[in-house]
Amino acid sequence: MTGPMKLVVVGAGGRMGQALIRIISETQGAVLHAAVARPGSPVIGKDAGEVAGLGTLGIPVTGDALAAFVNADGVIDFTRPETSVEFAALAAQARIVHVIGTTGCSEADEAKFAAAARHARIVKSGNMSLGVNLLSVLVKQAARALEASGWDIEVVEMHHKHKVDAPSGTALLLGEAAAEGRDIALKDHSVRVRDGHTGPRDTGSIGFATLRGGSVIGEHSVLFAGEGEVVTLSHSAGDRTIFARGAVKAALWAFDKKPGFYSMLDVLGLSS
Ligand code: NAP
Repeated sequence: MTGPMKLVVVGAGGRMGQALIRIISETQGAVLHAAVARPGSPVIGKDAGEVAGLGTLGIPVTGDALAAFVNADGVIDFTRPETSVEFAALAAQARIVHVIGTTGCSEADEAKFAAAARHARIVKSGNMSLGVNLLSVLVKQAARALEASGWDIEVVEMHHKHKVDAPSGTALLLGEAAAEGRDIALKDHSVRVRDGHTGPRDTGSIGFATLRGGSVIGEHSVLFAGEGEVVTLSHSAGDRTIFARGAVKAALWAFDKKPGFYSMLDVLGLSS
């Protein structure tokens, strides 16, 4: 790469978009190339640095994603599933890196990301932090080690009151890690909601419990419950910048990779 990697932040006015603009400005080897918001958003035309609380950067927020992608090296996207699907197609056309942090994506969305990854270098993860990715490795190991003894697995999470999807992308990522440890498919064994007369717990299921409130950035615990003892593996996010730092690291990592679909475990060298 000659010069810093030119990155576009989409969803520039959002909580993660603002954190990304701040982290890019302090990351060597990366530079903010453009900032994109939803057409009609009140931040269009404002300076991206001012939107992020940094002072002037000389980059006005635009609603024209296609123009923003043309001469960029990568795009970092924490928006909404339908928006990320659109941006994946544009990133594939532009043959650039697309880092996707958006959660709540459907199986149909995932199929579209996989198609776009034939041309784009996509890194996607329900959680971009080092801590949660390490936790997922530990959860997989624990699920495997405790399987024969029949321990029950429950994933508990809490997030701020504005979060729109449940269970969180991180809770699902941790559930997937537990399912992998047991060599089962999460979708066939997960219990995502319990209400009313549910009957006893299904042996081998992986349960989820969701809490919402206040300004909590992200609390996740995976509980392994055996006869007379419980092991809890937890992660606590104290600051949104952990996700933004991970996402910028992912973009830099993907720059010289072949087109394909990668995870944060690949970026962090934790994939087995
Ligand atoms: P947010 O504050 O609501 O930000 C989302 C932003 O995307 C908003 O500014 C929204 O603009 C913008 N947007 C929507 N449609 C757009 C379009 N067509 N073009 C450009 N921008 C568009 O939410 P957040 O807390 O930053 O979270 C965003 C996503 O990231 C969620 O799915 C969340 O779960 C996920 N997340 C993932 C991680 C991770 O590590 N993977 C960590 C934190 C959050 P308007 O408000 O104008 O619609």
